[in-house]
Amino acid sequence: MKRRDWLRLLVPGALAGALPAAAADEVVRRFGRASVRADVSRARPGGVLVVRVSGLRRGAASAILDGRRAPFHGGRALVPVPADTLPGTHKLGVEVRARSGMQRVALSVTIAAGSPAGAARLLSPEVAARIADEGSVRDGRRLLAAVRESAPKAAQVLPLLAPVAAPVALGFGAALAYVDQPAIGPRFDGHYGEVHRGIDYDVAPGSVVRAPGAGVVTLAGELSLPGLTAVIDHGQGLVSVLCHLARLDVRAGETLAAAAVVGVSGESGIAGTPHLHWGVYLHGIAVDPVVVLTAL
Ligand SMILES: [Zn+2]
Repeated sequence: MKRRDWLRLLVPGALAGALPAAAADEVVRRFGRASVRADVSRARPGGVLVVRVSGLRRGAASAILDGRRAPFHGGRALVPVPADTLPGTHKLGVEVRARSGMQRVALSVTIAAGSPAGAARLLSPEVAARIADEGSVRDGRRLLAAVRESAPKAAQVLPLLAPVAAPVALGFGAALAYVDQPAIGPRFDGHYGEVHRGIDYDVAPGSVVRAPGAGVVTLAGELSLPGLTAVIDHGQGLVSVLCHLARLDVRAGETLAAAAVVGVSGESGIAGTPHLHWGVYLHGIAVDPVVVLTAL
């Protein structure tokens, strides 16, 4: 037996005590000299759980919330909390690599209730006709495929930057209805549910729209409901979607630096009024862009 193991037997908790104590917004699970820590300060629908492991020789593979998997990159996993997550206790599983194979460590996390604010939008008959058009279903699936496409090894730099300098006019998670129109959820981005999956900035048409972070353009073109749209892959599962543009200055395949000009804002698709919609997807799940405007 090694000297350190003797010490642990003689002085219970001596080594565990050397680990930093759990902060108020943290859930910690210790096993031997290793620990899993989940930052739960953003544990709400649209939020992100930040999971870190330490003391593991082989590291961790993924964190799993309600059956959805988020991979670890450099000792950290960013776990999206879907917009439709019910408040209450949820199980967060962490797959750690042990000598005997993969082992799962379970933590309990409490997800807070989401923001119930709502908004209703009135569309002109020409714009509303896009909803009924079958092309909107195909375009919703196309956007879904694009938000799920992310290079796992590409460096991801947080925080992201706001694409325009303006206050947020409609936040993430707001119940969004179109007056006298059917539900649009899956036709917009392939996801179900009538909640706002992004944030809106009320900016004048022609306002310059910038890349929220460095990345590769994976889609640039016209989609039925989102209108003229750019999708930027920031790497490691993080993707930005910029919708309702009036002009696109980038092409699919192009590599962008953070704050590079993507185009100018407008009211294409089902915008209804001039505004920029910025959606952020983490491992294919829509999260509140405000969350990634801070370092995680
Ligand atoms: Zn929007």
